[in-house]
Amino acid sequence: MNRNKALNIILLGPPASGKGTQSELICNEFDIVHISTGDMFRAAISNKTELGLEASSYIQAGKLVPDSVTNGLVKERLALDDVKNGFLLDGFPRTVNQADELESILSSLNTSLTAVISLVADDDELISRISSRRVCLKCGASYSLKNKKPKVDNICDNCSSTLVQREDDKEESFKVRLEDYQKKTFPLVEYYKKKGILYEVNALLSIDEVFDQIKDFLKRKLDE
Ligand code: AMP
Repeated sequence: MNRNKALNIILLGPPASGKGTQSELICNEFDIVHISTGDMFRAAISNKTELGLEASSYIQAGKLVPDSVTNGLVKERLALDDVKNGFLLDGFPRTVNQADELESILSSLNTSLTAVISLVADDDELISRISSRRVCLKCGASYSLKNKKPKVDNICDNCSSTLVQREDDKEESFKVRLEDYQKKTFPLVEYYKKKGILYEVNALLSIDEVFDQIKDFLKRKLDE
């Protein structure tokens, strides 16, 4: 898809608000690159790289990986050629410090954010959703035993690997992640609202309804 401007977006939202699912739909529709720091860390852990070793204890406990590690990872990724048409950041930034760092990374690359989409959902609904989430550790695909089942029980549609429940989706870690989101990431809603680029969507609508709203919004943005 040729466009005269890049579509650079952030998808914000608490864990289990549907970021992974919506990211996939948005990236396919607009032909932009999906950059998920969580997926990058999980791939590093399963490949047993130095980065994986560094990140794994934080991730298993549901804690944030230190900014020094995460910011460097994103900086390297955004410098690659395939982001020229645009990118969707999923799981980054998660703190105001990371958001400030992102501004400087983007300005050093002579580009900027087009929009920030925030998925809104309350904690009780998220806790009930998380128990049914299953993921593929090989290709990063995410499923819900309630409303996004794999075609064959427990097997990834894309790469036929066995699906698992993420360690950090187990109740104790999940609650830590939700609290972390409220404390550290939620302030970004205000941060981007002040910049005039925030678009909020009710994450409790169906997958298609959430996507339709985001799609219409982004099409309007591209026409501006
Ligand atoms: P996610 O798949 O986005 O829920 O991320 C899974 C885990 O990876 C998080 O709970 C953190 O431990 C780590 N992680 C992912 N993105 C970041 C980030 N931007 N900053 C710090 N830690 C992160």
